[in-house]
Amino acid sequence: DKVHAPVVIIGTGLAGYGVAKEFRKHDSDTPLILITSDDGRSYSKPMLSTGYTKNTTANDLAQLDAGSMAKMLKASVWTMTRVAEIDTANQMIKVGDAQSAIHYGKLVLAVGAEVIQPPIGGDALEKVYSVNDLLDYDDFRSAVEKNGVKKVCIIGGGLIGCEFTNDLLNGGFEVEAVDPLGHCLPTLLPEQAGKAVQAALESKGATFHFGPLVTEVNHAGEGVRVTLNNGETIDADLVVSAVGVRPRVALAQASGIDTNRGVVTNRLLETSAPNVYAMGDCAEVGGHVLVYVAPLMAAARALGKTLAGEPTEVSYPAMPVTIKTPACPVVVAPPAPGAQGEWTVQAQGNDVQAEFRDAAGNLLGFALTGEATKAKLALQKELPAILA
Ligand code: FAD
Repeated sequence: DKVHAPVVIIGTGLAGYGVAKEFRKHDSDTPLILITSDDGRSYSKPMLSTGYTKNTTANDLAQLDAGSMAKMLKASVWTMTRVAEIDTANQMIKVGDAQSAIHYGKLVLAVGAEVIQPPIGGDALEKVYSVNDLLDYDDFRSAVEKNGVKKVCIIGGGLIGCEFTNDLLNGGFEVEAVDPLGHCLPTLLPEQAGKAVQAALESKGATFHFGPLVTEVNHAGEGVRVTLNNGETIDADLVVSAVGVRPRVALAQASGIDTNRGVVTNRLLETSAPNVYAMGDCAEVGGHVLVYVAPLMAAARALGKTLAGEPTEVSYPAMPVTIKTPACPVVVAPPAPGAQGEWTVQAQGNDVQAEFRDAAGNLLGFALTGEATKAKLALQKELPAILA
């Protein structure tokens, strides 16, 4: 019967485990099942790009294994189990070989985001790593150690590319990075702020190639040769691809649930299917795709109550993002896409304070680097909420 039908959560990242914890604060009895295609270890994903700075292996980053999480949450956690389809009419999930199916009372999609694979040719693609979960991280660290890696080529000068650049420099590696746009963090920062990050990373030894695309990665001796479309080449021991992530929408799509850039939800985190919710990196909440920790924590708190029978809309305050480039710290609160206004920039060396204001002078976003990050709290107070 419906009352005892379990709450099922697909995904055990910060979103899946986060909403499970919040739900258990309000309901300790309803059966709870978490299903994940990985090994279900609990870890903080942002730590994947500070591994050399903090000297942490994949095992160091794993906080609790799936069994311990199950005990703590009074839940069962199914690991290495991929969900291929949801029968939303009968509220059933088919898992694995589709021989087993489970009924849900309420279902949460917390399946995260997948890495975008740039179209690259060549014969050494197995030396191109992307690091988007703990298992990837383990592979990457093993490859670095096994092959006596000294030099890494990074594809992408965005958040993850710059964080890995700084982290690998801190680990004593040589780093060359490539981005088709004009400066570091090109989609998040105005030019002067991006150039400050670039200068700080260059002074630690990084080399950047702005403008070209990577076209091929081929074996060359023990390492690889990376070819750019401007005719240049970069020799390295291995390559990290960090061109961005996009919400995983395939499962929702295959199940007839509405998707746009992400799995579409309203502020109750309800999808188009009855009793199916979405949150975290896979979700598009009230039109916002925000692939960061602060929004998923806000969503977990609201959805934890909703699942326990107290419908609660999510609110998103202003949530500036801290970028982990210690060579030049960055805090950014990007203006909403399409916001009308202008940047004004004050700079002193690598300390840049950029403010995005509308014609009436209202602050709609900011970007701070270096010492200017000290202005974060004051500016954050002035910002409008993302979803009031
Ligand atoms: P994920 O952690 O990706 O979890 C998805 C889960 O779904 C996994 O358990 C996966 O196995 C499971 N899954 C997927 N498909 C299926 C399926 N079909 N069947 C069963 N299970 C499935 N954000 C910040 O705010 N600050 C930072 O400093 C920061 N640094 C970052 C650094 C790096 C290197 C990266 C990669 C991201 C960083 N982020 C940062 C982003 C932040 O980590 C993510 O927003 C957050 O971890 C997303 O959590 P999630 O639970 O939505 O997704």
